[in-house]
Amino acid sequence: MKRIEDYVHIVGRDEVEAIEELAERVKGASVVHINSTAYGGGVAEILKNLIPLAQSVGLRAEWRVMKAPPQFFNVTKAIHHGLQGNMTIEISDEMKKTYLKVNDENASLLEPSGDVVVVHDYQPLPLINHRRGDKWVWRCHIDTSKPNPRVWSFIKPFVLKYDAAVFSLERYIPRDLVGIKVFVSHPSIDPLSDKNKLLSLSEVEKVLNRFDVDPDRPIIGQVARFDPWKDPLGVIDAYRLAREKIPELQLLLVGSFAHDDPEGVEWYKKTVEYASSMRDVHILTNIDGVEDLEVNAFQRSFTVGLQLSTKEGFGLAVTEALWKGVPVVARRAGGIPLQVIDGETGFLVQTAEEAAEKIVYLVKRPWVARAMGENGREHVRRNFLITRDLKDYLRMHIDLVGK
Ligand code: UDP
Repeated sequence: MKRIEDYVHIVGRDEVEAIEELAERVKGASVVHINSTAYGGGVAEILKNLIPLAQSVGLRAEWRVMKAPPQFFNVTKAIHHGLQGNMTIEISDEMKKTYLKVNDENASLLEPSGDVVVVHDYQPLPLINHRRGDKWVWRCHIDTSKPNPRVWSFIKPFVLKYDAAVFSLERYIPRDLVGIKVFVSHPSIDPLSDKNKLLSLSEVEKVLNRFDVDPDRPIIGQVARFDPWKDPLGVIDAYRLAREKIPELQLLLVGSFAHDDPEGVEWYKKTVEYASSMRDVHILTNIDGVEDLEVNAFQRSFTVGLQLSTKEGFGLAVTEALWKGVPVVARRAGGIPLQVIDGETGFLVQTAEEAAEKIVYLVKRPWVARAMGENGREHVRRNFLITRDLKDYLRMHIDLVGK
C-alpha cells in the first residue's frame, strides 16, 4: 500500500495535487502491466512501486509476470543484445518458434485485458497477437536507437500492432517507427521504497559490519547485474588503479541475479575470478542476502558511486546513488549523461584510467564529493522520482482512454 500524500514533503503539495487532478480523468480505469520478471533489474524495480502508487490515486492497476522456461530467456537475451545493437546476433527459426509459443501460452495464463495493457520490453511483446480490443502500449526500456536490422525487422511488426510505444529517451525511438503514437518518459525511483528511504547511520554501519566491509575506510562501488554491458571487469581495473594512490580504498560490486537474465552466473564467475588476487574487493549478491535494504545501505556508504556501463537503458542504479547524495563516476552510456552532469553531479569518463583519476580526486576531496552529491540529489528530486513517472503514465492514459 502506498499513499500519494506521503510524497508531499519531497515533491511539494502542488505536484501531488497536479497528479490527483490528472488521475481524476482516468479514475477507475483498469491498467494491466506485464513484464517478464518479478525480481531483478530496473523494470521490476519500477513496477513494484508504480502499481501501488497508481492504485492510491484511483486506478485499478495490476502487475502480471510471464512464466517462461530458461530456453525462452536465452532467446530473449539474444533479442536484447540485437535490439541494443549487437550486429552478430542471429535469431533462428527455432528461436522464433520458442519465443512465439511461450507468448501464446502466456496469453492464456495471463489473460491480458484491461482498459489499457502496458507491455514492458521485448519478452512479452508478441502478447499483442491476443489483444481483445483494448488499448495496448509497448513500454521499451532499452536503447533501440541502432538495432541490429535483422532482429529489428523480426520485432517491428509486433510493435506496429500497438496503439502506442514509450521510450526512455527520445533518441531511442527507432527511425522507421511510424504509424503509432510515441511517447518519451524517463524511468524513475521511489524515494520511499526500502531501496531508497532514509536510513540512520547506525543502520548503514550494521549492514557494512554484517558483510565485513570496514566502515572506517573509504568505499566505492557499482550496483549492477552481472552483465557484459555493465563492464564489471572495467570497474575492477579502475579500482586497481585508484588503489595505487589510496591503498585503504575498498570496492563493493553488488549484483543480483535477475530471473530473466541467463548470463548472470557466467559473468559473476568471470568477475570473481578477475578480482581473485585482490584484497578489499567485496562481490555480493542476493544469494548472500543482499536485498533492497542492504543495497540502500551500501549505496549510502559509497564515497563515490560507479557505473561504467558501455550500454545502458537508463541506469536506475545511478539515479539511486545520486538520490543518496553520492557523486557518480560513469561512462556516457544510455540515460547516464542525463543524470551525471559532468563536473556537477559526478564525472563522465571513457576509460578505466580516467575513472580511477576521478575516483582519487573525489575520495581525496570529501567537500567536493559532498557538494556534487547534493547537486545530484536535487537533480533526481526534480526529474527522476516516481511521482513524475506516474504523471507521465496518467497523461498517456488520458490520451488513450481519458474522459
Ligand atoms: N539491483 C539490485 N541488486 C543488485 C543489483 C541491482 O537491487 O544486486 C537493482 C538496482 O538497485 C536497480 C536495478 O536493479 O534498481 C537495476 O536497474 P538499472 O536501470 O540500473 O539496470 P538494468 O538491470 O535494468 O539494466
